[in-house]
Amino acid sequence: MKRSERKISGRANNISDADPIDKVQIYGAGTAGSFLYVLLKQSGFKVGIKDIRKEPDCKCAWGIMYREANKIYKKIGIDLQDYVLARPEYVITNKIEFKNKNVVIFDKKKLLEDVWKEIEFKEIEADILVDSTGHRRALLPAIKEDKIYPTIQTIEEHRAEENIYVYACKTGYAWAFPLGNNRWHVGAGDIDETKATELIKKLREEFEFRKDHEICKCKGKIRLLPPSKCKPFVSKNIVGIGEAIGCVSGLGEGNVPSLRSAEILYDCLVNDELDKFESMIMDEFRWIEVEHKFIEAIQEGKRLTTLLLLPKVVAIESKRSAKLSVRGMRRLIKLLK
Ligand SMILES: Cc1cc2nc3c(=O)[nH]c(=O)nc-3n(C[C@H](O)[C@H](O)[C@H](O)COP(=O)(O)OP(=O)(O)OC[C@H]3O[C@@H](n4cnc5c(N)ncnc54)[C@H](O)[C@@H]3O)c2cc1C
Repeated sequence: MKRSERKISGRANNISDADPIDKVQIYGAGTAGSFLYVLLKQSGFKVGIKDIRKEPDCKCAWGIMYREANKIYKKIGIDLQDYVLARPEYVITNKIEFKNKNVVIFDKKKLLEDVWKEIEFKEIEADILVDSTGHRRALLPAIKEDKIYPTIQTIEEHRAEENIYVYACKTGYAWAFPLGNNRWHVGAGDIDETKATELIKKLREEFEFRKDHEICKCKGKIRLLPPSKCKPFVSKNIVGIGEAIGCVSGLGEGNVPSLRSAEILYDCLVNDELDKFESMIMDEFRWIEVEHKFIEAIQEGKRLTTLLLLPKVVAIESKRSAKLSVRGMRRLIKLLK
């Protein structure tokens, strides 16, 4: 649905003037929207949800931080363990090894299909509208200097050790994720498709992933801006969550941040504290701001800033995803100098 076609329904145009909110219409039943729908429904809210897709397509975004995601999904009765395809031992980036602590590869399509079984798709007259339309941000005002990267990806068969393989350059990276049974998800995101294709070529050369075993391929898009650059989060009676408001890390992690942003909105609605939503999002995702600053410094060739931010980013990721040895850290510094 185009923003210009959307009639803002509901009894108030300015949320802060409204009575407690009990009717919510969600647009976008992806990671954040579908989770929010079930949470609200469980708590007795009247909820409508709509998506432009007929069913969850693969979109291949299958890496997730197990601890955080499992805790969040438990709230709607989902055990993430049932969807885990692989637990890679290492994340190998430009030949530097990170010991994986928390990243699993999961079957996102199957998980979303199961959540969709709980959903009755319909539109209702609501107090607020939720924009969870991901990179499309179909309801909230457009972002002036938006940064949306194209991605290309394939599923392929290979015999390789079950690690996550990454080939990164200044503006993007290519990845190979194990999906179990010798199936791999190979893809890349960069400022344009030509660069992304080039990155995949480099990844194939570096890790010996030959091209001749493609099972399927598709394209996607990802917003690579932090929340601070995706304001407003709230406009009239529209509230954004997920990628629509920049809940994607500088390294492209959007699954847990999107879920977490939905959880924050849920807490605000239950406690009748929507006025705190923006500050709560900013507090929660300080680490995302740091990662984006780091990536920006690399892209702009600001070496000192890059090196100053590096220990912070390594500390964030050692806590969230994968740990770097002292030797690895030395190699990384050398690479970034
Ligand atoms: C190729 C690729 C790989 C990725 N890999 C990872 C990864 O490994 N790990 C990770 O953590 N993150 C990854 N991400 C990022 C992550 O997938 C997203 O950040 C996350 O899914 C965002 O969740 P969301 O709910 O905000 O949006 P989405 O999950 O994108 O959902 C948006 C939904 O809105 C619907 N929609 C769009 N327009 C409208 C409209 N006008 N009306 C109604 N519905 C609409 C769409 O159909 C969709 O269902 C990847 C992204 C891409 C593109």
